[in-house]
Formats: sequence, C-alpha cells, structure tokens
Amino acid sequence: MTPIVLAIACLMLVTLGYASLCAGSPFGNCRKCNGLGHHLHYDRKGRPKRGKRCRRCKGRGKRVRVGRWIYNRASRIYREGTR
Ligand SMILES: [Zn+2]
Repeated sequence: MTPIVLAIACLMLVTLGYASLCAGSPFGNCRKCNGLGHHLHYDRKGRPKRGKRCRRCKGRGKRVRVGRWIYNRASRIYREGTR
C-alpha cells in the first residue's frame, strides 16, 4: 500500500512542478536550435557561423510549453463557451 501512495505523491509533485514552471515561464527554448533561432554552420576553419533560420520556432528561439499550450486552448474554449 505504501509504495503506491509514494508513487502517487511523486507524480503529483512532478505535475505540480511542471504546472508552476508553465505558469512562471510559459516559453521554453526551442529544442531544435537551443534558443538561438537559427542553425549553426561551421566554416573550413571550424568557426561557427549563422546558418538558416530555424523553421520550428520561425527564428524566435522560443516556443510555448506544452502545458501552457493546453492551458491557453482550454481557457479559450471556456471563454467562448460562456460568453
Ligand atoms: Zn528553433
């Protein structure tokens, strides 16, 4: 019985932590370009150069977190349903 309660407590803790993260900073770094907004090219001397604009984040380097995206969608549906 006790291990199950412990597992539920851990899951709750992780969920609450992620929810507070989404509330505190709704935007996270783009995983494709690590927040740079563009890809990196290396020239023949091995120095990094600015490459193409990142397609995933459209050059912004930031993306809306999944939890925040769900919250935005849910709050919009609620607002339009109760008008
Ligand atoms: Zn990106």
